[in-house]
Amino acid sequence: MAHRRINYEAVFLLPEPLFSLLKDQADIISEKAVNPDKRRFGVKNEAEKHYIDLDKFVTHIDSIQQVYPVKWKDAKLKFTEDTLRAYGIAPYSTYWEFNNLVEIFTSKDKEKIISQMADLGHYISDLHVPLHTTLNYNGQLSKQKGIHGFWETRVPEVTIENYNLLISDRLVIIENPQQFFWDIATESHSFVEETFSLELELTDSVGRSYKEVSSSLNKSGKVYSESYSQLFFEKSGRLQEARMRASILKVAEAWYSAWILAGQPDF
Ligand SMILES: [Zn+2]
Repeated sequence: MAHRRINYEAVFLLPEPLFSLLKDQADIISEKAVNPDKRRFGVKNEAEKHYIDLDKFVTHIDSIQQVYPVKWKDAKLKFTEDTLRAYGIAPYSTYWEFNNLVEIFTSKDKEKIISQMADLGHYISDLHVPLHTTLNYNGQLSKQKGIHGFWETRVPEVTIENYNLLISDRLVIIENPQQFFWDIATESHSFVEETFSLELELTDSVGRSYKEVSSSLNKSGKVYSESYSQLFFEKSGRLQEARMRASILKVAEAWYSAWILAGQPDF
């Protein structure tokens, strides 16, 4: 999703004195927001940190917490580590990244703090994307191939100018970070079904020629049209905007809570 923008906006939600320590770094934290994706194919054990295929083992959204133990240690006993890693481990590994940030805050190494904040922001934002929580992440199982990039890149590209990303919620300090990341994944997963059904329904009603236009930028020579992207966005209840707003808030809450847990260091 729009990683750079999310990290950037999250900096401005931070309370003082943390905000003053970081306000000059918003551009760098934003730039570095895409680093984890650059590592995805080169670094071992990186890819599985960006998603979790919940529907591999869960048949109903309400049973996620019964199927998946919140703690990694318990999950490994139940599934084995190899199996977990094969289907993505994002809620677990995002918690590890959160702990890493607490530790790095303690070290007061500003450069490392900024890199780790940027990384954590990325993983939390990925967790907010419904298609990062399903086996059918690119519609490959339902003849809707391409829906992943459509949902997280094309629709925002076309609609982001009209998003209201001003957030006035007060940051809540996270009490149970493991549960916090699981709650985000569960919420995202609740939008999976409607994402696929809406795409099908709209394609049926408007037709392929409305949905796709030619593009020289794409390997397939096709790209989702602006009008179709706009229509999907409106019919979904502006879901991308809502998920982006939620991401910004949760990223800021995670950064802030990590700093509090580290003893509010002045770095
Ligand atoms: Zn990612």
